[in-house]
Order: sequence, then C-alpha cells, then structure tokens
Amino acid sequence: MSETFKPVLPGASIGVLGSGQLGRMFAIAARRMGYRVHTYSPGYDTPTGQVADLEVDGPYEDLDAVTRFAAGVSVVTFEFENVPAATAAAAAKAAAVRPSGEVLHVTQHRLREKTYLAQHGFPVTPYRAVRSLAELEAGLVELGYPALLKTAGWGYDGKGQVRIAGPGDAAAAWQTLAASGEAVLEAFVHYEREVSVVAARGHDGQVVDFGVIENHHVGGILDISLAPARISAVCERRAREITRAVLESLGVVGVLCVEFFALPGGELLINELAPRPHNSGHLTFDACVTSQFEQQLRAVCGLPLGATDLLRPAAMANLMGEQWQRGEPRWAEALALPDVKLHLYGKSDPRPGRKMGHLTALGASAEAAARRVNEARSRL
Ligand code: AMP
Repeated sequence: MSETFKPVLPGASIGVLGSGQLGRMFAIAARRMGYRVHTYSPGYDTPTGQVADLEVDGPYEDLDAVTRFAAGVSVVTFEFENVPAATAAAAAKAAAVRPSGEVLHVTQHRLREKTYLAQHGFPVTPYRAVRSLAELEAGLVELGYPALLKTAGWGYDGKGQVRIAGPGDAAAAWQTLAASGEAVLEAFVHYEREVSVVAARGHDGQVVDFGVIENHHVGGILDISLAPARISAVCERRAREITRAVLESLGVVGVLCVEFFALPGGELLINELAPRPHNSGHLTFDACVTSQFEQQLRAVCGLPLGATDLLRPAAMANLMGEQWQRGEPRWAEALALPDVKLHLYGKSDPRPGRKMGHLTALGASAEAAARRVNEARSRL
C-alpha cells in the first residue's frame, strides 16, 4: 500500500455509474454507513436514483459530463459493467475508479474475458472466436454439437445467445448475431450444477469471499440461489481458490463474481465474470454478517473488509415482471411468512424478463430455505 493512500471515510460522497438494483442496494448499504451516494446514468427516477443523494441523468457518451460528475465525489464505482471504457477513463480524470477501467474492459467483452482467462491458465468452457460463417462452421467441427453462439460484447442474462443443435442451424445462427461482427462459439457444457463465488479484494490486496452459492436458471436468467451450495468440500475449496486467483490476477479493487459450471466429476469451468456484486449474492444482504454491497463499499473506499460468515443457510428467489401479469402480487400473503424478506427495486414497469425484486429466506438447511422462499413466491 502506498504511504499516501487515504481511505474514503463516512461522510464522503461516492459516485456510481449505472442506476439499477445493484446500485440501489449499494446505495442503501453506503447511506447506512453515513456516506452520500451520487448516481450517473441515462434516466431519471431510477432504482438507484430513488435512494441516492444525487441523481444525474446523462448519456455515458457525454465524457465531459462524466468527468464533472466524478469531480463531485471521492471515488467512483459502477454497478453496470457495460459502461464504455471511455466513460470509465473520463471519470478517472477526476476521481479514483474502482475496480479500474482495465478490469471493466476485460470483463465487459466475452471474447476478451475468455482469452484473458485461458491465457492466464484458468479453466474456461471450450470456445472459438467467430467472425464469419466459415469460422463458425470450422468451430462447430472442432467443438461438436450442441453448441452456443454468443455475442462477444454486451451480453447478459442469456441475451444475445443462440443454440446450435446441428449443422443445419449454423447459417441461421450466424445471421442472428452477424450484425455484431464478432461472436464466441462455446461447447454446450453438460454440468451438474451452476455455482458462483462472490469475492472482494481490498486496496491492500486482502481477498475475502462469501463461499460457494448454487444457482438455478430459467430461460438463461437466474431464478433461485442457495447457500451453501450442495457441492463437495474439494469442489468448494477449488472454486474459492480459482476465484481468489482471478481477483489477484486482474488486480481487482472491489467486488467480483465468478460464475462456474461444476461438472459431474468435480471439474470446474468458468462461465463468466462480473466485476461487481452479483444477483447470486443478493442473499448476503439478509444472511451474512457483511453484505456483498457493504463489502463493495468497504473495498472501493479502502476500508478493511467485513466478515462474510453466513449466519444461516439461505435462499433467494428472483421476482420477474411475469409475476405482475395477473395484477399486483399479493405481498401480504407472502409476508405472512414472517422470516421471509422482500426486496423491491422501485421499477414501475413490470415487463416480462425484467428483474423487479427478490425474496430471501433463511432455514435450517439450504434446501429448507429454498422450500421456504418458493412457498413465499408461490403465495404472490
Ligand atoms: P450467460 O449469459 O453466458 O451467463 O448464460 C446464461 C445461462 O445460460 C448460464 O447461466 C447457463 O445456464 C446457460 N449457459 C451458458 N453457456 C452455456 C454453455 N456453454 N453450456 C451450457 N449452458 C450454458
């Protein structure tokens, strides 16, 4: 640590690029500890803006406005990794940006991320870079079927992905994604479980993680997370070791989540990285001594990291826009289960596929917590 390093202490203002639910939960954690929160994004009355001290509505491409925004805060972080690299650089002219723009640059682009991980010896899903139909066809011969074609940049929650079942699907799949110019072809992984590790690295290099969380997706979007994950002790140790090594390799100062596929034999493959708190870590808000959002705050402010002990096994269920299809969910019925916690993100338009909130339940075991959170959700 450099001798001139000074932590950003309570009372200071923190800037958040992006304004969704991750920024909202960060702002709640930061305000609880006496910080002020400013958020910058194109939009007004956003999930983060509703609970921030200052909401600035502007495009990420207005670099002068981003620099002015950063000049008003002590440190800038982000809750949305698809912020252009130039935006992070514009902010860095006026304030420290944590994690750095380089971490953002690597992790916001699937191909760069996979290339970085493979070159640094991390286990990744077999993949090929694809820039033409001919490259796609050659890649399919090598990787086999089924396979997934994903956009290289700007993809999340299963968006920008096409499944290729056989040779007859290749041309149509390329047609769907060709406009983006560059794609990643991935072998389809027959995993036993999907798991993730959320971890934080402090300014002094200390790394702390939240253990292994088990994730279940529906239609490419996270549906339920459970902690602790039902995996072997060996697999757990390995997932945490890989995660620590990823944070150290990238020099992250902040929070980063590693999503894994756990194979039947215990092998782990990295699916992707998120350089910020992650949906699978939302259960830490109610179930851990320190939440992933408070940990992000501590890390980016240069404070000591908090204890991550899981107080009780927990499960989290996402509430998607579909839940509103038959009218306003019946909140009181779900909340009649007194140990279930409700989080809503302040979004007014419940579109299908949109994350509107989540429920968390604690239990004697991860399975019991999952049953409880499912029961609560079904009451809605
Ligand atoms: P992603 O947006 O890449 O995280 O993908 C969303 C979800 O799609 C993942 O959480 C998996 O459930 C599934 N998926 C993505 N890539 C693969 C793959 N190579 N093999 C099998 N399932 C995948």
